[in-house]
Amino acid sequence: MPSFEEARGIILAHVAPLGEENVPLPDALGRVVSRDIIAPWDLPQYDNSAMDGYAVHAADCTSVPTRLLITGFLPAGGADCPAVTVGCAVRIMTGAPIPAGCNAVVPIEETEQEGDQVVIKQRVLPKQHVRVKGSDVASGTQVLPAGSQVRPAEIGMLAAMGQALVPVFRKARVAILSTGDELIELGESPKAGSVINSNALSLAAAVREAGAEPVLLGIARDNLESHREKMREGLCCDALITSAGVSAGDRDLVREVAASLGAEELFWKIGMKPGGPTAFSVWQGKPIFSLPGNPVSTMVTFELLVKPALLKMMGHHRVLPPFVKGILAEDAHKKPGKLHFIRVTVKKRHGRHVAYCAGEQHTAILSTMTRCDALAALPCDATFIPAGSEVDLALMREVDLLSEAEVGIRCCA
Ligand code: AMP
Ligand code: MG
Repeated sequence: MPSFEEARGIILAHVAPLGEENVPLPDALGRVVSRDIIAPWDLPQYDNSAMDGYAVHAADCTSVPTRLLITGFLPAGGADCPAVTVGCAVRIMTGAPIPAGCNAVVPIEETEQEGDQVVIKQRVLPKQHVRVKGSDVASGTQVLPAGSQVRPAEIGMLAAMGQALVPVFRKARVAILSTGDELIELGESPKAGSVINSNALSLAAAVREAGAEPVLLGIARDNLESHREKMREGLCCDALITSAGVSAGDRDLVREVAASLGAEELFWKIGMKPGGPTAFSVWQGKPIFSLPGNPVSTMVTFELLVKPALLKMMGHHRVLPPFVKGILAEDAHKKPGKLHFIRVTVKKRHGRHVAYCAGEQHTAILSTMTRCDALAALPCDATFIPAGSEVDLALMREVDLLSEAEVGIRCCA
């Protein structure tokens, strides 16, 4: 049985970035550029004013004060300005091109206007308040390396470079299949023994949050034909995630059907809790993540095992969840042999993350998941982890704003 890290290593070794596509710039947000982006021109494209003021030639302003004749006005967007001759200045607004014959800008605040003349009260240095052509990005240089994630800043830079279409790694289309005779869809009336198919919706949300596109396949019933039909459909996507039906129960059919379709199983069962019965297989290069059905196991295994794989498929370099060091606020007990991830709330105190048990830790307890700020990793061999011990925390959300009052129940598994 692989350890958690080994299992994740196996998964990551079996997935690769998907192909590329060109998308309109606004749609590139959150995506990863698939090629180096090279500047087609200088930025700025021309010398321009960084201030509202007067464009002058510094050599005309050697005495203090200096009087120059105002011979024109250049607003941003203005381009037509005759060359400025000796002893003259042009009133210029921020962003307007520096006219020929000038090499500096004097801010309005450092001048006084007297009729058609401007009085400059300070020394002027060449290039002062001039944004020089190419000083931000020089034509032909790399603006973004392949593998960069597109954030609002990158959108702005790509727009400034005239990049209306951006080459990015393809979004993964991820099929989501729930299995089980007990399942009903949201909106159907519950009857005795039925369970709302919440996993499909939490997984779809998690897939979307990871930047991928969920494809909901609905529910496979607990018979081979239903599983086969739905799983085959799912294999048209880039990846298939199944939930439930992967333990040792009589009606746990996911692995059997994956094998009958020709998938190669890389592992079944991992030394982690929750998520022990997870299976991973590959069908014609496509990953099949068979996650346990208990809603918490489904979400935790998605976060720690599936999401990194999807991120890698979409070209991301940083694929692992952010781990920080934290301090356990309470004693924790566990059985040896598996890495346990317990759901904790986290409070920052004196610059350290302090982790409190978020509540009952059974994998069917969904409410503890909604209170969870982080998953605290309790080492494999440990059986007793005393309060004050340092643990790794996989952060599930920003924790800075939590107040003491929100910290909740104080008990641990
Ligand atoms: P199984 O692995 O099929 O034995 O399922 C384990 C547990 O997870 C059972 O209590 C199921 O009812 C529950 N479960 C399975 N699938 C889902 C689902 N899609 N949504 C919510 N709970 C589920
Ligand atoms: Mg089942």
